Amino acid sequence: MAKKDYYEILGVSRDATQEEIKRAYRKLVLKYHPDRVPPEKKKEAEEKFKEISEAYDVLSDPEKRKLYDMYGTTDFSQQTGYNFNWQDFFNTHSTEFSDIFRDLQDIFENLFGFSFGGGRTATRTRRRRSRGQNILYRLPLTLEELARGVEKEIKYNRYVVCPSCGGTGGKKRVCPTCNGSGRVVKTSRTFGFLIQSETVCPTCEGTGEEIYEKCPTCNGKGLILKEERVKVRIPAGMRGGQRIVIRGKGDDGKDGAPAGDLYIEVEEKPHPIFRRDGDDLHMKMDITVSQAVVGDEVEIEDILGEKTRIKIPEGTQPGESIRVKGKGMPRVDGRGRGDLIVHFNIRIPRKVNGKAKKLFEELKKMGY
Ligand SMILES: [Zn+2]
Ligand SMILES: [Zn+2]
Repeated sequence: MAKKDYYEILGVSRDATQEEIKRAYRKLVLKYHPDRVPPEKKKEAEEKFKEISEAYDVLSDPEKRKLYDMYGTTDFSQQTGYNFNWQDFFNTHSTEFSDIFRDLQDIFENLFGFSFGGGRTATRTRRRRSRGQNILYRLPLTLEELARGVEKEIKYNRYVVCPSCGGTGGKKRVCPTCNGSGRVVKTSRTFGFLIQSETVCPTCEGTGEEIYEKCPTCNGKGLILKEERVKVRIPAGMRGGQRIVIRGKGDDGKDGAPAGDLYIEVEEKPHPIFRRDGDDLHMKMDITVSQAVVGDEVEIEDILGEKTRIKIPEGTQPGESIRVKGKGMPRVDGRGRGDLIVHFNIRIPRKVNGKAKKLFEELKKMGY
């Protein structure tokens, strides 16, 4: 799939604020609202509606937007672009756009094959199947590994479909509490008003089915914990806190519902020499009094282990630094490297003997 330009789709600039993005989306939804276009344009409007919703889903989430800005995608596992999920999208944004989404229920349902309870859809017998949980895995890496890029095999536990019952959890019958609808109407009294609200059935948790004979292997859960190994490639230049998504490697869903995703969050281990600031690196370097006074040229090793010559300028003062261009961390987009900033620490000798002492005495007389 070709990379889509989400900014272009919404017609906003790359530095648009969240408010501008929201306004642009609202305007486009009203324009391409599948109910407002002539029948022959319906298919086209639906496509457009999908496209703008996907763009909005990414750009309205600061975390996804950051990833998208950086890599042009929010998905590293397969270069297929962003895996958009309507159920997630609706759950996240339905309150925000309740006014314009209200009469879109049927469209959501027909187009994207899910129901979201309430109103018209509640009378249907379609059941809620919950997707498997996402898993967050923190992966500590050294600065060297982040500088070169690295492939790691990680080991973690995830819930998978129980092999004994195939994920059903045991023998089932229609849930007696909700008669299979998965939802119950609750009546409560608030300030003397009777409030009716519809909630997920507590007996079957929305599945509409009750297990009357539990599978002994998974104790009715339908899922069992299993160790999983996954290989992940960390591109050079990633920063602590950034994540890589591997679709479908979270927990399996129950009853054939899709699996969740695995999020691998990079953690940066502290380094004995280098301190990172974005794509730049800082290091401290001890120099002698004479190096500070008359200057020098020395060899240092950068984060990639490459040797590079740097100049200590004549007359370097305590705490002064120099910037070595292009010797910092590689940029994750592949466009070169940041800088290396070397901070000089002038070491005053605690004791000098013999000839050196005489020279310092001489310098003292000369006023240095
Ligand atoms: Zn089982
Ligand atoms: Zn029930």
